[in-house]
Amino acid sequence: MAPKAQTYKGMKDYLPREMRLRQYIIATLSDVAERYGFEPMQTPIVEYEATLAGKLGDDEKLIYRLQYGDDKLALRYDQTVSLARVVGQYPNEIVFPFRRYAVGPSYRGERQQRGRYREFYQFDLDIVGVDSRVADAEVVAVIVEALSRLGFTGFKVLLNHREVLSALARVVGVVDEQASQVYRAVDKFDKIGADGVRNDLLKSGLDADAAAKIVEFVATEGDSQTVLAMMRELLKDDLRGLAAVEDLSAVVQLLDQMGIAVDGYAVAPRLARGLSYYTGLVFEAVIENPPIGSLLGGGRYDKLIGAFAGREVPTVGTAFGIERLQIVMTELGLQPPIDSAPRVYVTLFSPEQIADSLALAQELRAAGLPVVTALAPDKLGKQFKEADQKGVPYALVLGPDEIARGEVVVKNLRSGEQQSVPRDRVLALVQE
Ligand code: AMP
Repeated sequence: MAPKAQTYKGMKDYLPREMRLRQYIIATLSDVAERYGFEPMQTPIVEYEATLAGKLGDDEKLIYRLQYGDDKLALRYDQTVSLARVVGQYPNEIVFPFRRYAVGPSYRGERQQRGRYREFYQFDLDIVGVDSRVADAEVVAVIVEALSRLGFTGFKVLLNHREVLSALARVVGVVDEQASQVYRAVDKFDKIGADGVRNDLLKSGLDADAAAKIVEFVATEGDSQTVLAMMRELLKDDLRGLAAVEDLSAVVQLLDQMGIAVDGYAVAPRLARGLSYYTGLVFEAVIENPPIGSLLGGGRYDKLIGAFAGREVPTVGTAFGIERLQIVMTELGLQPPIDSAPRVYVTLFSPEQIADSLALAQELRAAGLPVVTALAPDKLGKQFKEADQKGVPYALVLGPDEIARGEVVVKNLRSGEQQSVPRDRVLALVQE
């Protein structure tokens, strides 16, 4: 009996139609990153288990572990830990500030849901080695530009600062041990609403007054300056909190100076971000419709990247989730503006015309057109059908009469119309 053909749960195959959109997404993100001076990088999917150990908190249980001989290995959980390893491993080759982008799969043993897989591609970009608001703003600018270039309109990059939330906890009298429960409750704001957050906080042992203040703070919406003013007012007695608000304010001002459209981002006190390694700015890109969770997340994490270098290496960065972009683009009908699928199918009329037909195909390819040829002479009807099934819009026929006249029959497979045109007109015709 033949073995059952199946993909491992939580993982997906991408057939050609889906691959075109994926490749377009990756090419667009790479292009925007390159334009801001980010350099490409790639690291192996497999790391030593010890490399990942102690970096992921509770999520360590999601790591895929494997063994080969005596080597204890793991599939990478993200590309951030690998970046930290690289920074520790090549101290003489990396010039700081180091802007790098990387795209590839990561692995997490999560339960599959919409937009949540066990193998997924992330497009990472980071600026390593500087603690700079310009760097923070630049990463946000790249994100806004990349999402716009992909055709998104109704998205927002939500901005907050890890220290703003810490200060909020202090100001309302939450003890340190409870602070992480506050972040966790706040993080669920979009899912469970203000009442849900209040209940969670009360359950964590906060008094009603503290819970009310936190909910009021995180529920504030409005233009960036209004929200920043509210933050300043509430945190006015907490110096670290105020410094964090000024950091956020500086990023907003820089984005404005860079000409980034104000509807592309917003200061959002409710944004907490799950991973505890963030130390400064945190952000997340969200879109109201269709529902998908976050398209990407990131922020400043000054402790993690230095883990292998043995010193602090301040870094700001983000990871786009390729699958989520793909799902949302598909549902919104956002397609690549240029179709890279073959435009033309060159038929083979009979063995005597193979040379001429292949020469024509090469000529069109040299002019930049994606061309697919028949692989053996056959009934033309069969060749047209194959081309049509592959979605190729035009078929070309070079029979002995056409060759003698210096012409080519161009058949539009959608409409069924065909015409014989001079060979040098073919390119213009199929490109119309
Ligand atoms: P994280 O590394 O958890 O900060 O995630 C960054 C981005 O990667 C998220 O915003 C998602 O777009 C994407 N992502 C994270 N986990 C998954 C997953 N299990 N499946 C698909 N995409 C994911």
